[in-house]
Amino acid sequence: MCGIIGVVGSSDALPILLEGLERLEYRGYDSAGVALQDAAHLWRARSASGTESVSALIDLCESAPRDASAGIGHTRWATHGAPGEHNAHPHTDCSGGLALIHNGIIENHAELAEALTARGHVFTSVTDTEVLAHRIEEFRREGLNLEESVRATLNEVRGAFAIAVLDIEEPNVIVAARRVSPLIVGTAAHCTYLASDVPAILDRAERFYVVDDDQVCVLTPQGFHVTDLTGAPSTLNELVVNWDLEAAQKGGFDTFMEKEMHEQPGAITATLLDRVRDGDIIFDELRIEDDRLRHVEKVTLVACGSSYHTAMVAKYAIERWARVAVEVDIASEFRYRDPIVDGTSLVIGVSQSGETIDTITALREAKSRGAMVVAITNIVDSSMAREADAVLYTRAGLEICVVATKTVLAQIVALEMLALRLAQLRGTLSAADIESLLERLHEIPALVEHVLASDAAVARVVEEVKDTRDFFFLGRNVGYPTALEGALKLKEITYVHAEGYPAGELKHGPLALIEPGVVVIAMITNEELKEKLFANLAEVKSRGATVIAVAHENNQDVAAVADYVLWVPVTVSLLSPLLDMVALQQFAYHLAQARGLNVDRPRNLAKTVTVE
Ligand code: GLU
Repeated sequence: MCGIIGVVGSSDALPILLEGLERLEYRGYDSAGVALQDAAHLWRARSASGTESVSALIDLCESAPRDASAGIGHTRWATHGAPGEHNAHPHTDCSGGLALIHNGIIENHAELAEALTARGHVFTSVTDTEVLAHRIEEFRREGLNLEESVRATLNEVRGAFAIAVLDIEEPNVIVAARRVSPLIVGTAAHCTYLASDVPAILDRAERFYVVDDDQVCVLTPQGFHVTDLTGAPSTLNELVVNWDLEAAQKGGFDTFMEKEMHEQPGAITATLLDRVRDGDIIFDELRIEDDRLRHVEKVTLVACGSSYHTAMVAKYAIERWARVAVEVDIASEFRYRDPIVDGTSLVIGVSQSGETIDTITALREAKSRGAMVVAITNIVDSSMAREADAVLYTRAGLEICVVATKTVLAQIVALEMLALRLAQLRGTLSAADIESLLERLHEIPALVEHVLASDAAVARVVEEVKDTRDFFFLGRNVGYPTALEGALKLKEITYVHAEGYPAGELKHGPLALIEPGVVVIAMITNEELKEKLFANLAEVKSRGATVIAVAHENNQDVAAVADYVLWVPVTVSLLSPLLDMVALQQFAYHLAQARGLNVDRPRNLAKTVTVE
């Protein structure tokens, strides 16, 4: 998830780009770069200084040409290729006369790069993006203009993109296009803009337009014209923007948490992208030979906090689908218990930041004992990613709110894809079963949208229980880690007492705490186990608790046992945490709002825990 910006027609191109990049930094800051075009030159500067990338870029721009009237800028959140100056955007073609920025993932970059290299193109980065610059260059050499070349290139591309291209041969023009990744266009007198998001150009443009999938826009100082990928004329829909700058940085949402919850469908889509080819689950990054993976004797997952809950979901999925024994451990416990792992063990560390010290040291311990070590992380080239034998990236984009939402869902998706890969290698699921599960997984982003759209119903339930002091979350199978995650979210942002339990454990102790005034929230999204859950709920109801169920929309029986229901769409139970957890995020969010708390900055907590 990078931020892109462009401007054509303004004598202030450079300050516009730099200020826009500062406002887009929430989308990524592994590196930043700009390209500017004056009458005869294309000038480029790039910096890879982590969180300081944009300010370092500003320093580099001291020597930029002052009379440039067109330019593009990019702040990167790496997906392919480590954060570093050579991988920073803009990328150029072989001549250096064409510059391109990109947000998204070009799925077929490897095959395009192979063909381009064979035809003599020289690559200077290891990003998926650079192929676009070289392929456009080829079409330009064949005599197509920039707009035609961009269209021709994009017709060959699979994946997600928002791009903007400058070409020294066509001054005062930017060609931009999108598929999946966001892109807006803005206009003002004699000046036209593009950006990933409104804040970047909010106080510059007077009118805003949304670019749709597979639209190509040619921006000039006078305005823009639009075509589809066949070249047929098309139009952009105007966007009514009445936010102030602060609201705009949160995309019109009140908080980063809410914004990031709404980014979950996109995070899942990006995490699934380019990982299934002809029915095969492909992890290009999984540098462990298939044969070693096939013969894994034990899988151990290590993680902390919400990542521990996603690891628990993975335990159920790997055991069920790949029929291999799985243990899950809190990273700080694994490290100090003389764990039993060896060359036949697969040890998977899960950490959003890839910098969680407990998880890093746990992986080091496993590696020193000869285990195959895989990192699941959202941050390219993080410490964990560098130290592991292989890394699977979740591609959730930058998460700003301290409590994890979209990265949690993306972790579950990555881990469940890995579970399916293991099942494929070990032959424990048929090709038809894998295909059907992949189909269900690809349906999840739309179903998450559906849960997000039920927000008002969740708020109404919260209103009924907002003064409660004790919450118990119950679940069975993957409903159990979902219950733990629901309780953790509530603790983190509402500071109320909340506990998660396997529903069957209730009568072994916690039932003693159930009395009138207590709220029990139960995950009833497992068809096979729902009768058992109903019995558990009868136990708590008869002791006076108020019951809220999270249930599949077709499970109307639940209304008989629950006081309130948070409905979620039907899916297979192992995928249901991807929906149930969203309902629980909404629940915690509304309870925090009702109590007037700042959800983005919960007390005592930090986003990345780099101390033991
Ligand atoms: N795939 C591109 C890169 O790694 C763009 C990244 C993004 O949009 O997040 O540089």
